[in-house]
Amino acid sequence: MQFKFDIKANAIDSFNEALVKYEQGQAGDLRAFKFAITHLAHSVELVLKMYLQTLDENLIFSKCFKHVTNRAKDDNTNVLAAFNALKSESFDFENLVQGHASPHTVTVEQALSMARCEVCSITGNHFVDQDFIDDINWMKSLRNEIEHFEFEFTAKDVRLSVGKLVRGLDEFTDLFSLFDLGNEVGQERYQVFKVLADEYEHAVAEANIAVGEQKQALFAGVRPKHQILIEWNIYTCPSCGNNTMIPNDDSQMGYRCTLEGCGNEESEDIEVDCEICGAAWANGEMTSWDDTYTYVCPRCENPEAW
Ligand SMILES: [Zn+2]
Ligand SMILES: [Zn+2]
Repeated sequence: MQFKFDIKANAIDSFNEALVKYEQGQAGDLRAFKFAITHLAHSVELVLKMYLQTLDENLIFSKCFKHVTNRAKDDNTNVLAAFNALKSESFDFENLVQGHASPHTVTVEQALSMARCEVCSITGNHFVDQDFIDDINWMKSLRNEIEHFEFEFTAKDVRLSVGKLVRGLDEFTDLFSLFDLGNEVGQERYQVFKVLADEYEHAVAEANIAVGEQKQALFAGVRPKHQILIEWNIYTCPSCGNNTMIPNDDSQMGYRCTLEGCGNEESEDIEVDCEICGAAWANGEMTSWDDTYTYVCPRCENPEAW
């Protein structure tokens, strides 16, 4: 029983540690991302083992798991069905590891191979989807590269994948009633966790980063006194409500929202030049004249009023 508790405590420790490193990575210390990945990988591994323990305390040991795998082969079924068959026969797993001081434990693949057999009895859907498995495999390959000093990733890759993994883990721990990740996260890490765990919040954070990066790229190398000449606005996107509409060369109006899944290009706030006097106004305030001008500003439209 002590062992069970330790796995949970260690999984949560590693997860919190991953968040700490992730925050440092976001603050510009790219090397910290590397540790965020290794801590997160460790946490995922432990959570998968916790899941195995919900089936049988001893299933996290390779020897016991191997016995299940062999049974699956003999019966020509999956590992979960084989485990259930053994359980119904009151098979004593503990017997297999008795006397071993520190028996070898299962791999991530083995634990996953069991979890992915779990099917919802009502909908018939698999509880663990392919996306989560793909993300775990991505993380594993990255961890291997990190350990062999040949890792290469962009900060954006890490942010997106860590976000997906955190959401996957949050769902997994909830699905199998292991623990509530949100409750276990340290208070000072809760904000970063929330952004990662909430797909929409995470996408908005990512969209804001894109805005900042483009702005920085545009102003880099331009002398301060010339920066005022750069025509660059950030508009509130009327479609998603975020302040994420920035210039985009591929857009007809010249602006596009950076939020993934939004990409809206239209806003009445986007400024255009009056075709008569040349002054810039929000396009929503402009009038079109038949057959002549598309954009006429309020001053030119109604000079008496000014
Ligand atoms: Zn938008
Ligand atoms: Zn005008």
